[in-house]
Amino acid sequence: MKAAILTIGNELLSGKTLNTNSQFLSIQLNSLGFEVVKHLTIEDDETNIIKTIGELTDEVDLIVTTGGLGPTYDDITISSIAKSLNCEMIFFENVMKDIKEKFSKYNSKMGQNNISQAYFPKKSIILKNRYGTAAGMFLEHEKVSVVSLPGPPNENTPMFNEFAMPLIQNMGNGKIIIKDIVIFGVGESNVEEILNEEIEIDKEIRIATYIKPRYVVIRLTSKDGSTIEKISKLIVKIFGNKVVGFDDINLEKNVVELLKNKHFKLSLAESCTGGMISSMIVNIPGSSEILERSIVTYSNRAKVDELNVSTQSLEAYGAVSETVAREMVEGLYSKTKSDICVSITGIAGPDGGTKDKPVGLTYIAIKSSKGTVVEKYNFFGDRNTTRHKAALYALNLIRLELIE
Ligand code: ATP
Ligand code: MG
Repeated sequence: MKAAILTIGNELLSGKTLNTNSQFLSIQLNSLGFEVVKHLTIEDDETNIIKTIGELTDEVDLIVTTGGLGPTYDDITISSIAKSLNCEMIFFENVMKDIKEKFSKYNSKMGQNNISQAYFPKKSIILKNRYGTAAGMFLEHEKVSVVSLPGPPNENTPMFNEFAMPLIQNMGNGKIIIKDIVIFGVGESNVEEILNEEIEIDKEIRIATYIKPRYVVIRLTSKDGSTIEKISKLIVKIFGNKVVGFDDINLEKNVVELLKNKHFKLSLAESCTGGMISSMIVNIPGSSEILERSIVTYSNRAKVDELNVSTQSLEAYGAVSETVAREMVEGLYSKTKSDICVSITGIAGPDGGTKDKPVGLTYIAIKSSKGTVVEKYNFFGDRNTTRHKAALYALNLIRLELIE
């Protein structure tokens, strides 16, 4: 089946906004087995939208639009699509109720113009927006299906994943089953190479890879659940402990779950990540059961005061060293008595690197009843990439400690 992505918005054409929605949607649609034949970007202009939708209905089975679902005068996507397809628009009571509730929850006053956001073509299936007010739409009309999503990526992505994808899966003949296998610590081209070598081509199943920042996702799509399970088991066997889990799993969710199952407590001493690891953990509901404490020991003095790191070690080896990482984690362990303790110290850059200690050099130490292990990494990238990588590798060390 063929698909087109139509992104609508003057700010995309002026260059103010980078069109990341097209990329995201293309990856998703391709992995679902659609052939994406067109990306189009047009202005918030009724005549233009009507004309473009009209042309696309003859060319593709599915049109996905983004942008122009807001309440302002330039948000005209839905009404223009309805005009183009000659569909009657009706008022959706439930959508209005939902918008009103959102406004009252945040104690703000709803404007008259928000009422327009409750009108959709009669046969629409409404897609919920958990992160904004604008609802989305799935519409099957004659031989074309149209999905309309909001512009902001933080609304667009979850709406697509949660509400649009299940409906798109049902298009065509028969329901498609999807399973994502999330891999950490192997590059995408490596993953593809291994899959090509190890897995025989089977026309019953489609195997595609895509990147979620810092993870590689292997997406299996098939109409046959047992084929999915068979191939999934095989892939898990091939990639072993590089598999974090399935579907919407990530390292922090996985780590919280593993710690909960073991009734373990975790403590962290973060230097270069400055609290990023604990922030990622605290994002996960239920983390209070497992996180004992997190100390940001950024300065040398903090490392000495809070973790009992020796000043001699700091002078002799420097704060970013195996010895200091080890002393940090051991100090934390004797202070907190947590089941798992982790310390992290590194050079996030852009300054501060030397020939012996380049930017990106990071030590992560982990201590449990099994003993202490210190790992050395050389991360590549700008300051925030380096810090984010360091946080993920620390979470990964905790995960490996808990599953081994
Ligand atoms: P809102 O209710 O926020 O107005 P909307 O659905 O009407 O949402 P737009 O007004 O078209 O969406 O765009 C809102 C913002 O979303 C833009 O300013 C831009 O930051 C972002 N955005 C829109 N389209 C894209 C895109 N294709 N890729 C990335 N970001 C986008
Ligand atoms: Mg808008």
